[in-house]
Amino acid sequence: MTAVSVDNGISQQRRLVTSIPGPVSTALLARKDGAVSAGVGITLPVFVDKAGGGVIVDVDGNSLIDMGSGIAVTTAGNANPYVADAVAAQAHAFTHTCFMVTPYAGYVEVCEALNRLTPGDHPKRSALFNSGAEAVENAVKVARSFTRRQAIVVLEHGYHGRTNLTMGMTAKNMPYKNGFGPFAPEIYRVPTSYPFRDGPHGGKEVALWATTRIEKEIGGHNVAAIIVEPIQGEGGFIVPAPGYLTALAEYAAANGIVFVADEIQSGFCRSGDWFASEHENIVPDLITTAKGIAGGMPLSGLTGRADIMDAVHAGGLGGTYGGNPVACAGALGAIRWMEENDACGRARAIESIMVPRLRDIQANLPHVGDIRGRGAMLAIELVEPGTTNPNGTLAADLNKFCHRNGVVTLTTGTYGNVFRFLPPLTMPDHLLEEALSVLQQGFEECA
Ligand SMILES: *Cc1c(COP(=O)(O)O)cnc(C)c1O
Repeated sequence: MTAVSVDNGISQQRRLVTSIPGPVSTALLARKDGAVSAGVGITLPVFVDKAGGGVIVDVDGNSLIDMGSGIAVTTAGNANPYVADAVAAQAHAFTHTCFMVTPYAGYVEVCEALNRLTPGDHPKRSALFNSGAEAVENAVKVARSFTRRQAIVVLEHGYHGRTNLTMGMTAKNMPYKNGFGPFAPEIYRVPTSYPFRDGPHGGKEVALWATTRIEKEIGGHNVAAIIVEPIQGEGGFIVPAPGYLTALAEYAAANGIVFVADEIQSGFCRSGDWFASEHENIVPDLITTAKGIAGGMPLSGLTGRADIMDAVHAGGLGGTYGGNPVACAGALGAIRWMEENDACGRARAIESIMVPRLRDIQANLPHVGDIRGRGAMLAIELVEPGTTNPNGTLAADLNKFCHRNGVVTLTTGTYGNVFRFLPPLTMPDHLLEEALSVLQQGFEECA
């Protein structure tokens, strides 16, 4: 697939030598319970020894197929040599100076790459942070500073993070918000396009519901930003109907509102293009990025129109660690791998392998209500047969089946009934096929 080996020296196979979790993981889990806050949950308690290509090897020697990429992060693969070598070299040169104190080229180079790769050829500027939530928070700061307005519009089923501001912007109560309020004011939620659940209502119509709500309940002239995920991640891999995003972007432009695309999950080749906004030719004013940006290193970015990004007073943006040099080296490595190896093409190839297999499964199973997503960001929504009623129990059972059988899978969605696939783009075809076979067996056993 690629010239440089990206398997981290790990045999690319699914191989279970103990039950899942095995004894060493089970002992570590007991230590985790004694040392780590119970508030930090775990999806699959196999403790990791190493990972690469399409597999995760645990401390008991089990080799599992990774269909989650650590939540869409290791898009360029785990321990990809482009990332690992750049990180090691940078760690030996210097690990931190604080870009705001004594700067370094890596930060500037990541910003140049973001400005070049994000949609639109207008002049752009970027700033770097540590986490996705921090990038979203800074998008709000920048939009408010530029517009001198306060209201922030977000969407139903939206997810933007776990800090106080971004919790308020996130739709789902459990587990993200419950008991953690009060949340920040001036956040307003409007209808999202959810084709599987919108009946006959198309993208333009739902956008009109949203903009009417903005006009009547907030007043467009009070809105600083409309923030959307071009494909909603934690909300359930919801791909809006054609016309919806375009209509919202047009409304924003007509009303002096900053249009922000949160591409933290959908960006960096995940969707088969560099950014999911490109599928509808949307050119957002601001874009937030994180997750897939740096091959696993903690880094996030805010990129956008130069006039908006430069409206903030000097010193208004930043943070001690934002754009850490080691994380920037990781990002430059990951981006170089993506560019040199047509990562977007690989994401589309993964879609073309997976979607027909998922359709085969759907043909025999009335529990699969919807198959959706783009590139290597795909999902199936599970329902009670003959209805659109969410079937969260089946999603949970199927997830457990996959875990027991050595496939790392994730669920998602407001109703917990969406089974999502986020394989690293370094996943070999034969493991992708095998993961789908395990899923199929899971359906036979659980449905
Ligand atoms: C994961 C995610 C975030 C939050 O990123 P963190 O790095 O976890 O803070 C924000 N927006 C979207 C769309 C995400 O998927």
